[in-house]
Amino acid sequence: MSEAATGRGQPSDCPGCGISVRLSPGELERIVAEYFRGSVPELVGVEEQERRLALCGECPDLLYGSTCRHCGCLVEVRARLAGLACPAAMSRW
Ligand code: SF4
Repeated sequence: MSEAATGRGQPSDCPGCGISVRLSPGELERIVAEYFRGSVPELVGVEEQERRLALCGECPDLLYGSTCRHCGCLVEVRARLAGLACPAAMSRW
């Protein structure tokens, strides 16, 4: 698998679609806010969010600093949702 496909190398563009898959903090914040706008999903508390995101941040399956290799979710969204777990076979949270 190429470094671009793993997200561990320097290339920042998705080899499949050719557009950047790396999000700036502002873009990520906007997407997360848009996702939660108008809906009231059950969320975990801030401490649990932070615990999950810390584990994602150290995870080798985190692509582009934002996306889980297993589910394609933005971890900033997935980690906030109650009732969801880390989708890896050896779940990390
Ligand atoms: S959700 Fe799980 S597998 Fe995906 S990046 Fe986070 S810790 Fe890694």
